[in-house]
Order: sequence, then C-alpha cells, then structure tokens
Amino acid sequence: MAGFRVLPIDSALAEEVRSTLKSPQYGHPAHVETASGYGPCRACLKQFRTGKEDRILFTYNPFENLDRYPSPGPVFIHAKACPGYSEPDQFPEELKSLPLTLEAYGENRWIIARERPAADEIERSVERLLQISGVHYIHIRNTEAGCFIAQIERDSSATESHS
Ligand SMILES: [Zn+2]
Repeated sequence: MAGFRVLPIDSALAEEVRSTLKSPQYGHPAHVETASGYGPCRACLKQFRTGKEDRILFTYNPFENLDRYPSPGPVFIHAKACPGYSEPDQFPEELKSLPLTLEAYGENRWIIARERPAADEIERSVERLLQISGVHYIHIRNTEAGCFIAQIERDSSATESHS
C-alpha cells in the first residue's frame, strides 16, 4: 500500500495573511468575517464553527512552485493562528463529510484522472489515483464551490519498500 501525505497551505503563508491582511501571492486585500460556512480552514483542515469563529478570505494560487500556469481562487483560513494539520499521513477526518473532488495532475498540470469518492472510499480513491503512472500530485477541491482545499503527494518514505 503506497502512502500519501496531505499538505495544507504553507504555515508561513497563512501567518503572512494574518499579519498583513493581504494575499501574499497577489497583494489583494484579504477579508475577515465571522464564518457563515464550514470552510474548511486551509491551514488546519478543520471545519469552521459557523457564527463562532472568524475566518479570513484571500486569493490563493495552489499551483505555485508546481506549474507556471496559475489558477488563483478564494480560500479561507482561521483568523486566529491555528495549529497546522498534524497527521499528514491520514486523510483529514473533518474533510470526509464534505463533497470532495480529487483531481490527479501530471506533467504541465494536465488532469489525468478525477474522482468523487464517498466518505468511506476516500483513502482507497487517493491510493488508486497515486498508483496511476504519470500522476505527480492530487488536489482536493470542494465539489460545490470548486475551491482548492489541500494537496496530496506520494509519501516517498513509504514507497521505497515496494518490490
Ligand atoms: Zn485553522
């Protein structure tokens, strides 16, 4: 079984958004509001407690350092510093109940495969996509909003033992 790693947005980038209230990649003003939807927070990958937590909306390109063709879009993080996602070898529990689309990208950001797994099929779907030759990484998107949630890579330390 090939391992995987779930990567939220970079914690330094999240900190920069909180301290400058601007998109670090684009300079557009970020917007702070009380959460009116579940999110999730792209830093800790947990859902917002609507009406109780503040969140920041900013413009983010999830393809930076992956491909020269960007796709900026809106994402949310907790307005207050939150712990980053701490179990990258597990699929985040709080994402499983959301409508998710997994997009598997190859060279030049080409989508090689796309799946919309049910909650109890997600890990199998991730592993199946990562086994496809030519797939470099997966992006998790929200099927309703289309927004980027997180990236998944193969766990290189776990694939070495494969014979
Ligand atoms: Zn958070």
